[in-house]
Amino acid sequence: MVLAGPTAVGKGTVAACIREEHPEIWISVSVTTRPPRPGEVDGVHYHFVDDTDFDRLVATGGLLEWAVVHGRHRYGTPRAAVEEQLAAGRPSLLELDLQGARQVRQNMPEALMVFLAPPSFEELERRLVGRGTESAEERARRLETAREELAAESEFDVTIVNTEVRAACSQLVDLFSSTHDFTSEAQ
Ligand code: 5GP
Repeated sequence: MVLAGPTAVGKGTVAACIREEHPEIWISVSVTTRPPRPGEVDGVHYHFVDDTDFDRLVATGGLLEWAVVHGRHRYGTPRAAVEEQLAAGRPSLLELDLQGARQVRQNMPEALMVFLAPPSFEELERRLVGRGTESAEERARRLETAREELAAESEFDVTIVNTEVRAACSQLVDLFSSTHDFTSEAQ
């Protein structure tokens, strides 16, 4: 399953909810050239790498998809880990930007594409400011990307409106349940 949606819509928070409450769902850990934010742990939230390491992964076909996000840093999904989880039949979640989601849809048409939408654009803006992790310049860049990403909703199989994190989290889990009998596997 792919979870995508505009910046600051709460993809990371929904993913954190799944990580805490649904360990039976595997969440891919991306590689990124972005520096860690306070509280982010290498190997848990991302694998933080430098440009040389990222280049090597691209050159060796080690990434299932990758993209430059918000015109700045590179992010990608390590291919081997995903293939391993899918081969084991484990429900697997990729949290991606729109470019990455499109690449996965192309390469893995069987993936269920889920769009996480904000209740409104104004609410999205409010969440981005409230998060307080980006400079004014970076916020403006991200909101610009967000406008384009919101327009792509129709490319997705399902939309979940993220009004409240726990509700969005449980809707996502319900989607997994409807496509995957993992409750018996987890016991
Ligand atoms: P952030 O810097 O806020 O953690 O993430 C910025 C954006 O990068 C988010 O929209 C997130 O979904 C996206 N992203 C995270 N990991 C990946 C990845 O592996 N591939 C792609 N294409 N986008 C990613």
